[in-house]
Amino acid sequence: MSGRVYLVGAGPGEPGLLTARALELIAAADVILYDRLIGASALAGARAEAELLFVGKQGGGASVPQEQTEALMIEYARAGKAVVRLKGGDPFVFGRGGEEALALRAAGIDYEVVPGVTAGVAAPAYAGIPVTHRGLASAVALVTGHTRAESVADQPDLDWVGLAGFPGTLVFYMGVRSLPQIAGGLIAAGRDAREPAAVVQAGTLPTQRTVTGTLGTIAESARREGIGSPSIAVVGAVAALAGQLSWLPERTLAGRTVAVTRARAQVSWLAGRLGELGAHVIQAPVIRIEPRPAEPLDPSPYDLICLTSANGAAALFERLAAGGRDARALAGARVAAIGPGTAGALAERGIVADVISERFVAEGLVQALARVPVRHALVARASEARDVLPEALRARDAVVDVLALYDTVAEPVPSPVLAQARAADYITFTSSSTVRFFLEAVREADGRAATPGAGLSPHTRIVSIGPVTSETLRAHGLNPQVEAARHDVEGLIAAILADAAREE
Ligand code: SAH
Repeated sequence: MSGRVYLVGAGPGEPGLLTARALELIAAADVILYDRLIGASALAGARAEAELLFVGKQGGGASVPQEQTEALMIEYARAGKAVVRLKGGDPFVFGRGGEEALALRAAGIDYEVVPGVTAGVAAPAYAGIPVTHRGLASAVALVTGHTRAESVADQPDLDWVGLAGFPGTLVFYMGVRSLPQIAGGLIAAGRDAREPAAVVQAGTLPTQRTVTGTLGTIAESARREGIGSPSIAVVGAVAALAGQLSWLPERTLAGRTVAVTRARAQVSWLAGRLGELGAHVIQAPVIRIEPRPAEPLDPSPYDLICLTSANGAAALFERLAAGGRDARALAGARVAAIGPGTAGALAERGIVADVISERFVAEGLVQALARVPVRHALVARASEARDVLPEALRARDAVVDVLALYDTVAEPVPSPVLAQARAADYITFTSSSTVRFFLEAVREADGRAATPGAGLSPHTRIVSIGPVTSETLRAHGLNPQVEAARHDVEGLIAAILADAAREE
């Protein structure tokens, strides 16, 4: 039985730019041979039993010899394995995919080629540079600035006259050290030094940077700005469009680490947004939401139903369903929600909240309910919560039933993750329970003796979602340097952005 080899392009780095076919093959592979510049996220979908072998060049050091990589592919394929040979960008664009295909053909091994999004097109695109453009460039040349023997210190040996005369955009895949030779070679061969040029480092990745200028200035500008590898250089009129067409949101948090302690199930929006802003997100969930058994609920006695979280809204509907009811059962009651997340979860289930607190704390809802008549209220919420709302309603002579829908329990944090969270630039707390369970995780890790300052590194800034969480932090000897003005995750991010801008 003979296996098969898949020569797969992984794209330029952004996980979303992997093709559907690449994802499918990665998920099915027995063996994955991968290169430098392949992001960890590209390998995340591999099976737990898959063998992952790095065959690239280690940070400027020696690479696994090409013959050895080819021999490995052949050996695994002969053993009947599904082998994915994963390469940055496109396998047939400066990826040595052609050489590997030749070796496979010679060995009589079946293969499939999966094209990828090549860096020479993707990195310019992410900088707002179309490599062709009507009236500006009707041809594009992909050129390697690496020599075959890379030991010649990246000195490209190219047909300068041919390239200088090329009627269109020149895109160089290059080591940054080659940029002065490339620009100099083109100018010496007659290309106009005033022609627009751009260099894009780490295109599509959170650390992407672009420098623009002219062919005459670009090498010096890139040097001054400290542009490093991997980079693509673009020479041609289209490079000037970067100023007008750049679209990537500013990655204001590039280079910063942000630890997130809230429950894994609730983290996706926050982590996604932080990632878009360029932050490195450390997911260290210290809590988990555990729904209580869904006992049937008859809401007919109530004229007011208060919900304090999106989780609560979901759990409430499970209880209605458990009694064979649906949203119509709430017709006789007013429904009140703390915060837009809770209101959104209700809206998804066909209920438009009658009252939404503007502030995302119980006090806010108490205020919002001041003019709402109430006889018999249901407050549906977490088992462990403050009694501000029920007490305020009882003070108005209402009968109040409190229904605990779910428990907040500790989620074990692996110690390397906890260590990363304690060394982060920012650590975020989105509820009092995240504070309490974080400290419990710290005690667990450090032994029972309470570590002063929870062992957070001195530069770590503590971020709190609002005054209640801040109070809990202070009660445990932690001082939040950043507190959100709007007590939701958007407000939390706004507060981090403002703090990062002040620090600059
Ligand atoms: N097969 C790959 C190219 C491999 S050659 C492709 O199709 O994209 C390696 C060179 O590609 C690097 O030296 C650099 O010039 C370029 N490169 C790869 N990824 C890049 C990225 N994310 N941003 C800028 N350049 C990149």
